[in-house]
Amino acid sequence: MRLEEIEKKLEKVELTRKELKAEQAKALGRRQITCTTNHGDGGCGARFQIGSLTYIQAHYYVSPYGCAGGDYWNQKEGGFDCPKCGYRNRLYTYDRNEFQELKRYFKEIVDELKG
Ligand SMILES: [Zn+2]
Repeated sequence: MRLEEIEKKLEKVELTRKELKAEQAKALGRRQITCTTNHGDGGCGARFQIGSLTYIQAHYYVSPYGCAGGDYWNQKEGGFDCPKCGYRNRLYTYDRNEFQELKRYFKEIVDELKG
């Protein structure tokens, strides 16, 4: 195969890949997620498209320690507030890996700092 030919084919593959990635993002954004009703103290059970929700990334405060350790914020967990009932749906009620993957397809990601 000539170099020109190879590069042309590569270009085509890259383009297809980009198109598929865009389609994948759309499909994931359309995926539904349920306001959890686990443990009896959960939310309302309403379903939403992930692409319409705001992902909330919680952080927790780590106090200074010793003489060298400064204070800092640590990433804790993610979740979303149900637009219908306001219940905070937390990461640990879903499969962790799946949720981390889906994080990219929320409408937006908001950081929340808590002491
Ligand atoms: Zn709800």
